[in-house]
Amino acid sequence: MPDTPVPAPKREWHGTHHAWSFRPHAFRWVGEQIVGLNFLPLATEMRAWMLQQGRLALMPPPAPGANGGFTNPYTTSGVTLQLLMAQAISALHDYATSETPDHDELDAELERLRLYNEVLLYSARLCEVAIKQLLYCTQIPESRYKRMALGALLESPCPSCKRQNGQEPHLVSLVGTLAHPFHLCLQFEHCAMDHMDLVNRLRNSQAAHAGIQQLSIRSVEASKAQLMQESQEALSGFVHMLSHLAELEERMLTDLAEKGEAINVLKSGGLAAKDCNFNLVPGEEFVFRPAAQRADA
Ligand SMILES: [Zn+2]
Ligand SMILES: [Zn+2]
Ligand SMILES: [Zn+2]
Repeated sequence: MPDTPVPAPKREWHGTHHAWSFRPHAFRWVGEQIVGLNFLPLATEMRAWMLQQGRLALMPPPAPGANGGFTNPYTTSGVTLQLLMAQAISALHDYATSETPDHDELDAELERLRLYNEVLLYSARLCEVAIKQLLYCTQIPESRYKRMALGALLESPCPSCKRQNGQEPHLVSLVGTLAHPFHLCLQFEHCAMDHMDLVNRLRNSQAAHAGIQQLSIRSVEASKAQLMQESQEALSGFVHMLSHLAELEERMLTDLAEKGEAINVLKSGGLAAKDCNFNLVPGEEFVFRPAAQRADA
Protein backbone atom coordinates (compact mmCIF):
# COMPACT_ATOMS: atom_id res chain seq x y z
CA MET A 1 0.00 0.00 0.00
CA PRO A 2 1.60 3.32 -1.05
CA ASP A 3 2.15 6.01 1.61
CA THR A 4 0.59 8.84 -0.40
CA PRO A 5 -1.12 11.38 1.84
CA VAL A 6 -4.76 11.66 0.82
CA PRO A 7 -5.76 14.95 2.43
CA ALA A 8 -8.53 14.76 5.02
CA PRO A 9 -11.23 17.45 5.13
CA LYS A 10 -9.88 20.47 6.99
CA ARG A 11 -11.35 21.41 10.30
CA GLU A 12 -10.66 24.33 12.64
CA TRP A 13 -9.30 23.19 15.97
CA HIS A 14 -9.93 25.32 19.06
CA GLY A 15 -8.81 23.02 21.86
CA THR A 16 -5.95 24.50 23.88
CA HIS A 17 -2.72 22.63 24.60
CA HIS A 18 -1.36 22.39 28.12
CA ALA A 19 2.03 21.91 29.73
CA TRP A 20 2.57 18.51 31.37
CA SER A 21 5.26 16.33 32.92
CA PHE A 22 6.05 12.64 32.73
CA ARG A 23 5.23 10.49 35.73
CA PRO A 24 7.20 7.49 37.07
CA HIS A 25 4.74 5.18 35.24
CA ALA A 26 6.47 6.20 32.00
CA PHE A 27 9.23 3.74 33.00
CA ARG A 28 9.48 0.04 33.80
CA TRP A 29 11.23 -0.58 37.08
CA VAL A 30 13.13 -3.31 38.84
CA GLY A 31 13.12 -2.06 42.39
CA GLU A 32 14.74 1.36 42.29
CA GLN A 33 16.28 0.99 38.83
CA ILE A 34 14.73 1.93 35.51
CA VAL A 35 14.97 -0.98 33.07
CA GLY A 36 12.96 0.37 30.16
CA LEU A 37 10.02 2.43 29.00
CA ASN A 38 6.43 1.56 29.78
CA PHE A 39 5.01 1.82 26.28
CA LEU A 40 5.60 0.41 22.80
CA PRO A 41 5.63 2.31 19.49
CA LEU A 42 2.19 1.01 18.46
CA ALA A 43 1.61 3.50 15.63
CA THR A 44 5.14 3.03 14.29
CA GLU A 45 4.75 -0.75 14.19
CA MET A 46 1.26 -0.69 12.71
CA ARG A 47 2.40 1.66 9.96
CA ALA A 48 5.43 -0.51 9.19
CA TRP A 49 3.19 -3.57 8.90
CA MET A 50 0.76 -1.75 6.60
CA LEU A 51 3.66 -0.68 4.37
CA GLN A 52 4.94 -4.28 4.39
CA GLN A 53 8.09 -3.12 6.14
CA GLY A 54 7.73 -4.95 9.41
CA ARG A 55 6.00 -7.65 11.40
CA LEU A 56 3.78 -7.25 14.41
CA ALA A 57 4.96 -8.79 17.66
CA LEU A 58 3.10 -10.29 20.58
CA MET A 59 3.35 -8.67 24.00
CA PRO A 60 6.56 -9.66 25.79
CA PRO A 61 5.80 -12.48 28.26
CA PRO A 62 4.29 -10.91 31.37
CA ALA A 63 6.63 -10.06 34.23
CA PRO A 64 5.29 -8.79 37.55
CA GLY A 65 5.06 -4.99 37.57
CA ALA A 66 7.78 -4.69 40.18
CA ASN A 67 10.05 -6.87 38.08
CA GLY A 68 10.50 -4.82 34.94
CA GLY A 69 7.22 -5.80 33.25
CA PHE A 70 4.90 -3.47 31.36
CA THR A 71 2.19 -1.98 33.56
CA ASN A 72 0.64 0.26 30.90
CA PRO A 73 -2.83 -1.25 30.27
CA TYR A 74 -3.09 0.52 26.91
CA THR A 75 0.11 -1.11 25.69
CA THR A 76 -1.35 -4.54 26.35
CA SER A 77 -4.65 -3.82 24.63
CA GLY A 78 -2.85 -1.90 21.88
CA VAL A 79 -0.84 -4.97 20.89
CA THR A 80 -4.04 -7.01 20.66
CA LEU A 81 -5.80 -4.33 18.62
CA GLN A 82 -2.81 -4.14 16.25
CA LEU A 83 -3.05 -7.86 15.55
CA LEU A 84 -6.83 -7.73 15.11
CA MET A 85 -6.60 -4.81 12.75
CA ALA A 86 -3.93 -6.60 10.71
CA GLN A 87 -6.17 -9.63 10.47
CA ALA A 88 -9.15 -7.50 9.43
CA ILE A 89 -7.08 -5.82 6.69
CA SER A 90 -5.80 -9.18 5.44
CA ALA A 91 -9.30 -10.67 5.38
CA LEU A 92 -10.59 -7.67 3.44
CA HIS A 93 -7.75 -7.84 0.96
CA ASP A 94 -8.17 -11.60 0.47
CA TYR A 95 -11.89 -11.31 -0.08
CA ALA A 96 -11.59 -8.40 -2.51
CA THR A 97 -8.87 -10.05 -4.58
CA SER A 98 -9.86 -13.73 -4.74
CA GLU A 99 -12.61 -15.71 -6.41
CA THR A 100 -15.57 -16.76 -4.25
CA PRO A 101 -17.66 -19.01 -6.51
CA ASP A 102 -20.08 -19.94 -3.72
CA HIS A 103 -21.03 -16.28 -3.05
CA ASP A 104 -23.96 -14.65 -4.80
CA GLU A 105 -24.57 -10.88 -5.23
CA LEU A 106 -26.19 -10.51 -1.82
CA ASP A 107 -23.43 -12.46 -0.04
CA ALA A 108 -20.78 -10.27 -1.65
CA GLU A 109 -22.55 -7.06 -0.72
CA LEU A 110 -23.00 -8.14 2.91
CA GLU A 111 -19.40 -9.26 3.07
CA ARG A 112 -18.29 -5.88 1.68
CA LEU A 113 -20.08 -4.02 4.46
CA ARG A 114 -18.94 -6.40 7.19
CA LEU A 115 -15.28 -6.26 6.23
CA TYR A 116 -15.26 -2.50 5.61
CA ASN A 117 -16.97 -1.88 8.95
CA GLU A 118 -14.41 -3.97 10.75
CA VAL A 119 -11.50 -2.05 9.27
CA LEU A 120 -13.12 1.29 10.17
CA LEU A 121 -13.72 0.15 13.73
CA TYR A 122 -10.17 -1.02 14.29
CA SER A 123 -8.74 2.14 12.71
CA ALA A 124 -10.51 4.27 15.31
CA ARG A 125 -9.69 1.92 18.18
CA LEU A 126 -6.02 1.75 17.26
CA CYS A 127 -5.89 5.52 17.16
CA GLU A 128 -7.51 5.74 20.60
CA VAL A 129 -5.25 3.19 22.19
CA ALA A 130 -2.06 4.69 20.72
CA ILE A 131 -3.02 8.07 22.21
CA LYS A 132 -4.10 6.73 25.60
CA GLN A 133 -0.94 4.69 25.85
CA LEU A 134 1.08 7.92 25.68
CA LEU A 135 -1.27 9.81 28.01
CA TYR A 136 -0.73 7.07 30.59
CA CYS A 137 2.94 8.13 30.82
CA THR A 138 1.97 11.69 31.78
CA GLN A 139 0.74 13.27 35.00
CA ILE A 140 -2.64 13.91 33.43
CA PRO A 141 -4.90 11.75 35.65
CA GLU A 142 -6.25 8.65 33.92
CA SER A 143 -9.78 9.49 35.10
CA ARG A 144 -9.62 12.46 32.75
CA TYR A 145 -9.35 10.38 29.54
CA LYS A 146 -10.16 6.77 30.47
CA ARG A 147 -13.73 6.86 29.17
CA MET A 148 -13.07 9.19 26.25
CA ALA A 149 -13.49 8.10 22.65
CA LEU A 150 -11.47 9.57 19.82
CA GLY A 151 -13.62 12.67 19.27
CA ALA A 152 -13.25 13.77 22.89
CA LEU A 153 -9.52 13.08 22.90
CA LEU A 154 -9.25 15.45 19.95
CA GLU A 155 -11.28 18.20 21.60
CA SER A 156 -13.53 18.42 24.65
CA PRO A 157 -14.65 20.99 27.23
CA CYS A 158 -12.15 21.75 30.02
CA PRO A 159 -13.53 19.95 33.09
CA SER A 160 -11.92 22.24 35.70
CA CYS A 161 -13.27 25.47 34.23
CA LYS A 162 -16.71 23.93 33.93
CA ARG A 163 -16.75 23.06 37.60
CA GLN A 164 -15.35 26.43 38.70
CA ASN A 165 -17.69 28.93 37.14
CA GLY A 166 -20.46 26.90 35.54
CA GLN A 167 -20.00 28.96 32.39
CA GLU A 168 -19.34 27.77 28.87
CA PRO A 169 -15.95 26.08 29.29
CA HIS A 170 -13.14 26.47 26.77
CA LEU A 171 -12.00 23.45 24.77
CA VAL A 172 -8.94 21.34 25.50
CA SER A 173 -7.20 18.99 23.10
CA LEU A 174 -5.45 16.09 24.81
CA VAL A 175 -3.97 15.00 21.47
CA GLY A 176 -2.59 18.51 20.91
CA THR A 177 -1.38 18.58 24.50
CA LEU A 178 0.72 15.45 23.88
CA ALA A 179 2.24 16.92 20.71
CA HIS A 180 2.83 20.38 22.21
CA PRO A 181 6.16 20.04 24.08
CA PHE A 182 7.72 18.35 21.06
CA HIS A 183 6.76 21.25 18.77
CA LEU A 184 4.52 19.01 16.69
CA CYS A 185 1.39 21.15 17.19
CA LEU A 186 1.24 22.48 13.64
CA GLN A 187 1.48 19.14 11.87
CA PHE A 188 -1.04 17.73 14.31
CA GLU A 189 -3.57 20.54 13.95
CA HIS A 190 -3.20 20.86 10.19
CA CYS A 191 -2.96 17.22 9.25
CA ALA A 192 -2.90 14.41 11.83
CA MET A 193 -5.96 15.58 13.78
CA ASP A 194 -7.98 16.08 10.58
CA HIS A 195 -7.23 12.47 9.66
CA MET A 196 -8.17 11.27 13.14
CA ASP A 197 -11.38 13.28 12.90
CA LEU A 198 -12.18 11.59 9.59
CA VAL A 199 -11.53 8.11 11.02
CA ASN A 200 -13.76 9.01 13.94
CA ARG A 201 -16.59 10.29 11.74
CA LEU A 202 -16.46 7.23 9.47
CA ARG A 203 -16.51 4.93 12.47
CA ASN A 204 -19.38 6.79 14.14
CA SER A 205 -21.53 7.21 11.05
CA GLN A 206 -21.02 3.79 9.47
CA ALA A 207 -19.56 1.22 11.80
CA ALA A 208 -20.43 1.86 15.43
CA HIS A 209 -24.02 2.99 15.79
CA ALA A 210 -27.38 2.99 13.96
CA GLY A 211 -26.00 4.22 10.65
CA ILE A 212 -24.52 2.04 7.94
CA GLN A 213 -24.19 2.28 4.15
CA GLN A 214 -27.17 1.10 2.19
CA LEU A 215 -27.05 -2.32 0.53
CA SER A 216 -26.53 -1.99 -3.18
CA ILE A 217 -26.94 -5.44 -4.67
CA ARG A 218 -25.15 -5.56 -8.03
CA SER A 219 -22.58 -8.09 -9.18
CA VAL A 220 -20.06 -9.83 -6.95
CA GLU A 221 -17.26 -8.04 -8.86
CA ALA A 222 -18.81 -4.60 -8.39
CA SER A 223 -19.19 -5.11 -4.64
CA LYS A 224 -15.59 -6.29 -4.36
CA ALA A 225 -14.32 -3.36 -6.42
CA GLN A 226 -16.13 -0.89 -4.17
CA LEU A 227 -14.76 -2.64 -1.09
CA MET A 228 -11.22 -2.37 -2.40
CA GLN A 229 -11.57 1.26 -3.43
CA GLU A 230 -13.20 2.55 -0.25
CA SER A 231 -10.88 0.67 2.06
CA GLN A 232 -7.81 1.86 0.19
CA GLU A 233 -9.03 5.43 0.50
CA ALA A 234 -9.61 5.09 4.22
CA LEU A 235 -6.40 3.18 4.89
CA SER A 236 -4.07 5.42 2.90
CA GLY A 237 -5.24 8.39 5.00
CA PHE A 238 -4.90 6.27 8.11
CA VAL A 239 -1.37 5.13 7.36
CA HIS A 240 -0.36 8.73 6.74
CA MET A 241 -1.91 9.78 10.06
CA LEU A 242 0.13 7.01 11.70
CA SER A 243 3.32 8.67 10.44
CA HIS A 244 2.53 11.69 12.64
CA LEU A 245 1.78 9.51 15.67
CA ALA A 246 4.96 7.56 14.92
CA GLU A 247 6.98 10.76 15.08
CA LEU A 248 5.44 11.63 18.43
CA GLU A 249 6.20 8.12 19.74
CA GLU A 250 9.76 8.42 18.51
CA ARG A 251 10.27 11.79 20.26
CA MET A 252 8.83 10.48 23.51
CA LEU A 253 10.91 7.30 23.38
CA THR A 254 14.15 9.22 22.83
CA ASP A 255 13.32 11.84 25.43
CA LEU A 256 12.35 9.27 28.06
CA ALA A 257 15.34 7.04 27.35
CA GLU A 258 17.67 9.99 28.04
CA LYS A 259 15.80 10.92 31.20
CA GLY A 260 15.79 7.31 32.38
CA GLU A 261 19.52 7.02 31.92
CA ALA A 262 20.16 10.26 33.85
CA ILE A 263 17.94 9.03 36.70
CA ASN A 264 19.72 5.67 36.84
CA VAL A 265 23.09 7.47 37.07
CA LEU A 266 21.81 9.54 39.99
CA LYS A 267 20.44 6.46 41.72
CA SER A 268 23.57 4.39 41.31
CA GLY A 269 25.43 7.45 42.64
CA GLY A 270 23.51 6.95 45.87
CA LEU A 271 20.59 9.35 45.55
CA ALA A 272 17.95 8.28 48.07
CA ALA A 273 14.44 7.44 46.91
CA LYS A 274 12.99 10.27 49.01
CA ASP A 275 15.00 12.81 46.99
CA CYS A 276 13.76 11.47 43.67
CA ASN A 277 10.81 13.80 43.32
CA PHE A 278 11.79 14.85 39.80
CA ASN A 279 9.88 17.12 37.50
CA LEU A 280 10.33 15.42 34.13
CA VAL A 281 9.45 18.08 31.59
CA PRO A 282 9.01 16.57 28.12
CA GLY A 283 11.32 17.86 25.44
CA GLU A 284 13.63 19.54 27.95
CA GLU A 285 16.95 18.18 29.12
CA PHE A 286 16.67 16.74 32.61
CA VAL A 287 18.93 18.61 35.03
CA PHE A 288 18.71 17.46 38.62
CA ARG A 289 18.91 19.98 41.42
CA PRO A 290 19.03 18.45 44.90
CA ALA A 291 16.14 19.33 47.20
CA ALA A 292 18.35 21.46 49.51
CA GLN A 293 19.47 23.58 46.58
CA ARG A 294 15.89 23.99 45.45
CA ALA A 295 14.86 25.22 48.89
CA ASP A 296 17.56 27.94 48.86
CA ALA A 297 16.68 29.13 45.40
ZN1 LIG B 1 -9.93 25.36 31.71
ZN1 LIG C 1 0.59 23.48 21.06
ZN1 LIG D 1 0.41 14.85 7.43
